Amino acid sequence: MLIPNRVDREIYRVLYEADGQSLSIQEIRARIDFAAIHKEAAQQHLDRRLRSLDGNFAINRSRQGRLTTYLLFERLAEPRRPAGTISKRTRAWVLRDQRCRQCGRSPAADHVRLHVDHVVPQAWGGSNERNNLQALCSECNEGKRDYFESISDETAAAVLAAATHDEPHRRIGEALKAAFPDGVRDDVLERIACSRQYQADWQKRLRELRTLGWKIPSPQRQREGGRFIVYYALDEMPPPWPSDIAGEIRRRERARRAAD
Ligand SMILES: [Zn+2]
Repeated sequence: MLIPNRVDREIYRVLYEADGQSLSIQEIRARIDFAAIHKEAAQQHLDRRLRSLDGNFAINRSRQGRLTTYLLFERLAEPRRPAGTISKRTRAWVLRDQRCRQCGRSPAADHVRLHVDHVVPQAWGGSNERNNLQALCSECNEGKRDYFESISDETAAAVLAAATHDEPHRRIGEALKAAFPDGVRDDVLERIACSRQYQADWQKRLRELRTLGWKIPSPQRQREGGRFIVYYALDEMPPPWPSDIAGEIRRRERARRAAD
C-alpha cells in the first residue's frame, strides 16, 4: 500500500480533493473525516503526519506570517527514503564486490560479515548517497567506530568544513590541518577530496601538496587484529596557501624538471 498509515491516507485525500488549493493545518483538520480514522490517531500532530507523506508526494509549503499552507503538487516517481534507511538496490550496489574496502577480506574466503558503512558518519551529517557508502567487515567497522569516538565534535566539524573549498588541494590540505597533529582516515579524506567534483586520482592531488613544501609522510597503516586502518597525518603545520594553488604547483614542477 502506498500510504500505510490511516491518518496519512486521510490527509492525502483532503489535499487531493482540495484540487490545487493550498490549505492550512486548521483547514486540513476541518476537512478530515475523523469517523474514518481511529480515535487516538486523530490526536496525532498533523504536521508530523504531513512530513511522513513527503516520502511519496511533493507537497509545497508556503508561509504567510505564522500560517503555513500545504498544497499537494504531485506523486513522486521515486519515493524519497527517510533518513537512515538504505534501499535494497543501494545495499546490493555497495556490497557488489563482496569484500571489505579496508582489509580486503571477503565472506566467501575469510568468513567475515560485511556491513554497509557511512564513510562520513550520519552523526556528522553524512548522507545515504552511494558515494558516501562502502562495504566494511565487522572488525573494520568496529575500528572505525572507535576512531570516530576518539575525535571531538569540534575537530570533526573542522575536518568536514574542509569539504566546502573549491580546489581539491585546499580541501585535502585543510582537512589535514584541521586534524593536526592526528591524521585523517583515508576513506574520509577521499570523500572530502571528491566532495565538490569527482577526483579520479585524489592521492595525486595529495602528493602534489608536497611540491608546495608540505610535510606529508606516507600513510600510516595500522593493523590491530583483523582491523586495518590507513590514515594520513601532517608532520608539521604547512606554509600558507599560494594565491593560485594549481598554477604554483605546475610552476614548481617545471622548475624541478629543468633543474634535473
Ligand atoms: Zn575489514
